[in-house]
Amino acid sequence: MEPQEFFRQPTDTEKKDFTPIIGTRVETKWEKYRKELIVKDQEYTEKKKPFCFRCARSDFKKKYDDKARDLIEKKGYVDYSKLDKTVETPELEDYGKPERFEVVKESKAMEDVPTFVSGRSVHHKVQTGIHRDYKCKVCEGLRSIMITFEELEKEAKKKWM
Ligand SMILES: [Zn+2]
Repeated sequence: MEPQEFFRQPTDTEKKDFTPIIGTRVETKWEKYRKELIVKDQEYTEKKKPFCFRCARSDFKKKYDDKARDLIEKKGYVDYSKLDKTVETPELEDYGKPERFEVVKESKAMEDVPTFVSGRSVHHKVQTGIHRDYKCKVCEGLRSIMITFEELEKEAKKKWM
């Protein structure tokens, strides 16, 4: 065998087998939605507001899977680019609307604070705020949010303004 033959360029037929998979596949609507959902959920957590991740996930997942099943029944396969055109993405803000939730419980949020008594550290618990438990009226899922006294004060001020 000649050396140049050994290091030859792959033929077109051979190239076909090496088509890179990563980077060529387009993200499906469901995958995109799932990512947006995580971001939105974090946004609400930071704002100390309830957001129903469970409903937001299952509403769309159910719709998406139903359509995919329809396509399989009709055509025997799922064309995701077509599927994505027929399924509408829900409005994520709907899952964080205040009227969706009710406050079911408020309890003390305690924190361990060490103090030094004659050279020894003693831990005692100090209340730093409250835990407010919300219930989603649709799926009855619970979400507990810790609110500090400082935040409670701000909240009270807003109500009186
Ligand atoms: Zn829910």
